[in-house]
Amino acid sequence: MGIINLLDIQTANLIAAGEVVERPASAVKELCENCIDANAHTITVEIKGGGNSYIRVSDDGCGISDDDLPKAVLRHATSKIRTGADIDGVMTLGFRGEALAAIASVSRLQIITRCHGESIGRILVSNDTDGVVISETGCPEGTTVIVRDLFYNVPARRKFLKKDTTESAAVGAVVEKLALSHPELSFKYIVQGEQKLVTSGDGKLMSTIYAVCGRPFAQTLNEINYTESDMSVKGYISHPGSPRGSRGMQTFFINNRYIRSRTVTAALEEAYSSYIPRGRFPAGILHITINPKTVDVNVHPSKSEVKFSDEKKIFDLVYYGVRSVLMASPERAVFTLAPKEQNDVPDAALVQEQQSHPIPTVQRAAAVFDGARITSADNDIVDDGELHLTLEAQPPETSKAESAQTAMTNEPEYRFVGEVFNAYAIVECSDGLYLIDKHAAHERILYEDLKSSNKRYAQQLFEPVELILSAQECNALLENAALLSQYGFEFKKKQNTLLLTAIPDIISCSASSVNDFISSLASKLTDGDTLPVQERTDRALFTVACKAALKAGIYNDPAHTEWVVRRVMTDERITYCPHGRPVIHLIDRRDIDRFFDR
Ligand code: ADP
Ligand code: MG
Repeated sequence: MGIINLLDIQTANLIAAGEVVERPASAVKELCENCIDANAHTITVEIKGGGNSYIRVSDDGCGISDDDLPKAVLRHATSKIRTGADIDGVMTLGFRGEALAAIASVSRLQIITRCHGESIGRILVSNDTDGVVISETGCPEGTTVIVRDLFYNVPARRKFLKKDTTESAAVGAVVEKLALSHPELSFKYIVQGEQKLVTSGDGKLMSTIYAVCGRPFAQTLNEINYTESDMSVKGYISHPGSPRGSRGMQTFFINNRYIRSRTVTAALEEAYSSYIPRGRFPAGILHITINPKTVDVNVHPSKSEVKFSDEKKIFDLVYYGVRSVLMASPERAVFTLAPKEQNDVPDAALVQEQQSHPIPTVQRAAAVFDGARITSADNDIVDDGELHLTLEAQPPETSKAESAQTAMTNEPEYRFVGEVFNAYAIVECSDGLYLIDKHAAHERILYEDLKSSNKRYAQQLFEPVELILSAQECNALLENAALLSQYGFEFKKKQNTLLLTAIPDIISCSASSVNDFISSLASKLTDGDTLPVQERTDRALFTVACKAALKAGIYNDPAHTEWVVRRVMTDERITYCPHGRPVIHLIDRRDIDRFFDR
């Protein structure tokens, strides 16, 4: 007997559903796209239980006619194309006719709809006990789709869903992208009865950016409006002085459709390459308009990845468009935290980034020296790509008690000779010369200090810094707020934004970089959701330490390097950086003498 079965329609739909609907956010995306295709002006998305238990998407669009309503939930039922030839040049967001069928097969679905000019509406109810039932109902013009108990019949899929807060943040991210792709539409997003976002729909991209990303972020943007033959790129890009710690604020649209594209990302970042350091990213909300026939949106079922018939043309459009704005950009002037000692300078005042930081008083102390710590530097010292960030680390003052205690030990003294290549400290000891990698060493010190006590001292910021973060990043910080506060990071929620109110006392950074810093921290906390929380925290602390450490290749006050040297010479743990690279290397005095025939 043969073993190949023809699957029944329900099973086939269930399998197809997995491709179109992965999680509540993908269902919301499909439902909202249908509203946009139906020429709606106002779209409301409401969810409960992270969208797992309840999703409602309402619009004031054209509605679904009596004839079409039963077909809407069938597979391959679409009003948007008729034949394969129509796929080329499709301008609507949907066209596969799969979404409603897919969602219906994995949930309890209702569609309530009334066409313009009709006196009465219809309600379609679809569930596995009654199948599809349609009846008359009173309702406003437009369409409301309600999805209950998503994946109730696909336990395997449910297992992969994250916590409700994570799922609602993902839904939020989808709504934000859709709102940014259609500034002429008004979006409303409600979670558990609380309104999270509302956009005006006044047609101005800047109004939507204000609503979605907040005012401080909007203020870091420059407008871009560039046309090259029949293509154009419009929108906003970040000021070179306000780079970001992740690609979270890069959002691209082709012909009003949100897309992901390596080509566009590469072009944007390449254009900024001589303006911002490696490891930092530009923000860009770019609307690209091209001939729809030159882009293939049919590559992926969720349609976010696109293929261009001429990638180079798109690259050049974005690259030269962005370049033209950057070249015309005025002098850099950025927000910087004023040094703590200068109380007359208001905190977070507009001052030049090159602001010098106060020099800490470092008291020389006799060193405790343990030869076992010294490692051979067989490993090459590698640039980790984080070396040029503008964060300035500021060693804490050495307390008198601490110095006295160290001074009492009878260990050999050392002499800090100086620093070479803005990277290595040279230290003289009786047994030879030590080379100390200042970045690697400082990174390790910060990492150990952050971890060392249960409760880090938090330094309260004079003025809380309003953070510009993606919904996911925000969520990650809030979920881990208690843990982060143990390390000295404190936050306060203010409406839809998050305020940073304190940072660990051992860290100092400028307001312009603090956001970048915190967003990297947040993304480390969300990376690898499956890892134990301690492991994720550890990685987040690595990032903090790495970003806040003195940078190789960048000049800093010798007192800072000297402070690092003192810690290396007195603390056994500072042997390798958290990434495993050596911190210190001994050139044996006997080898030096031998070399010079002494
Ligand atoms: P597609 O969008 O690919 O055509 P869907 O399964 O998402 O497929 O929707 C099927 C059809 O249902 C659409 O082609 C459209 O005619 C109709 N439809 C779905 N949602 C709406 C809505 N909000 N307003 C009007 N018509 C809708
Ligand atoms: Mg659709």
